[in-house]
Amino acid sequence: MTYVIKGKTGDWEVVIGLETHIEVLSNAKLFSGASADYNPTIAPNTQVSMVDAAMPGMLPVLNDYCVDQAIKFGLGINADITRRSRFSRKQYFYPDLPQGYQITQPADRPPVVGRGWVEIMGDDGSPKKILIERAHLEQDAGKLKHDAHPTKSFADYNRAGVTLLEIVTWLDVKNPENNSFIASPDEAERYLREIREIARALGVSKANMEEGSMRADVNVSVRPAGSNKFRTRTETKNMVSFKFIKTAIEYEARRQIEIYENGGTVPQDTMRYNQGDGTTSVMRSKEDALDYRYFADPDLLELVIDDDRIERIRHTMPELPATTRARYINDLGLAEYDAARLTETTDISRWFDAAVSGKKERAKGVANWMISELFAHGENWDVKNEITTQEPDAPRIIRPSDLAELVDMVIDNAINGKQAKEIFIKMLDGETGTPRDIAKKFGMEQITDTGAIESAVDAVIAASAPQVEQYRAGKVGLLGFFVGAVMKATKGQANPAVVNEILKKKLG
Ligand code: ADP
Ligand code: MG
Repeated sequence: MTYVIKGKTGDWEVVIGLETHIEVLSNAKLFSGASADYNPTIAPNTQVSMVDAAMPGMLPVLNDYCVDQAIKFGLGINADITRRSRFSRKQYFYPDLPQGYQITQPADRPPVVGRGWVEIMGDDGSPKKILIERAHLEQDAGKLKHDAHPTKSFADYNRAGVTLLEIVTWLDVKNPENNSFIASPDEAERYLREIREIARALGVSKANMEEGSMRADVNVSVRPAGSNKFRTRTETKNMVSFKFIKTAIEYEARRQIEIYENGGTVPQDTMRYNQGDGTTSVMRSKEDALDYRYFADPDLLELVIDDDRIERIRHTMPELPATTRARYINDLGLAEYDAARLTETTDISRWFDAAVSGKKERAKGVANWMISELFAHGENWDVKNEITTQEPDAPRIIRPSDLAELVDMVIDNAINGKQAKEIFIKMLDGETGTPRDIAKKFGMEQITDTGAIESAVDAVIAASAPQVEQYRAGKVGLLGFFVGAVMKATKGQANPAVVNEILKKKLG
């Protein structure tokens, strides 16, 4: 099931390339010892070293920890780590950057992280590889404030020089049949979520779009469905929300389709997204592209990485979402869709793991409850809070142990599905105590004690001689009558499966 947009002349496919920036977590900046914390509560221009301020004669010193972070991320996206890479100066004059150039890694050779891939759930529900061309280290710029004063602008350089890792997806232009690229707004979102989760699981970045520690440039082109050529793309810059990214892709694709269907061509423009109405408009055309005059930064040596360093970092890696998914599918027998939902965030998969806690037979039940119920009740389900111990008087939330117990009770026939749902709703409504406590309190616990059920069955059989005769003569449909009578005698608390079994044995 490929995503297509219906046009006047036929179906169109969408081709998407994402350049994602994540802010690397580190105490210090990429080339200076100044703090990399630029959050808005910190006074402007208090985290700026002489290097960041570009004072004459200052020299950048590469932060090894940030390089380790890049290598770790590279391993997390199955990428080649480049043994020798370089830093270049990208020249531009803008008040957010005192140096007058940004130090980045050049585009014409592999940066620290070379080719790799991540796996997402494709639109057809099966796993899909998205190829990544590269991920490079570069400096972030400062922040300008234009709205604080009628005639003045302010510059805050706390963020200037903070480390960014830019991850660029790959389009195999020489082989347009290779469809390992993002091909719909939903796939774009799933790709970004996957990048985010990998970055978070590894501690490489908070990768939080709302806080600005993750942003993306969105390249979009369209082509007639089934075509084996790529067409010209446009690039929409600096997107900071999944929703806007999806809207921008859709709008941009439709805009391009309309141009083609009216006989026009799409120029390779750089676009801006207009939040107000969800449209895009041209910011500059590629012809006016700035000439950044890249050249190797003479202040910095080649970045040389040896095998030992890579292996040392590899050994510190936690389980990544793709591995967790494979474990859920292969070891716990979950469906691909369920495995994908349960690994959307590390918090979710940790919650699930805590509930299953090694008991494979629980896995499907826990997965079902989480996906079909808990996900819809965010307010009663603080996924992070579940793991930690609760304050005794804190409001009731559902913990992994609660769901585990509920699932076990159903498996053991202590309660039936309907009762489980009632207990679940009571927990959502704030009822305290474990599911067993709740079942007891509301008299829901089923009688599984076979002795008690047997005597109820005996009583029913003794009191229904004509039906027993008919049943034994072949009218097996009467079983329902007996079950009903036993249930009534036990006030609905007998376990139906056990009742059935005992009845069949005694009547048979
Ligand atoms: P630049 O923005 O520096 O020109 P690239 O040429 O490397 O960078 O491309 C940037 C992004 O655009 C990459 O993710 C790439 O896969 C994507 N891209 C390139 N060509 C197309 C196309 N025809 N349609 C959609 N995306 C494309
Ligand atoms: Mg670009």
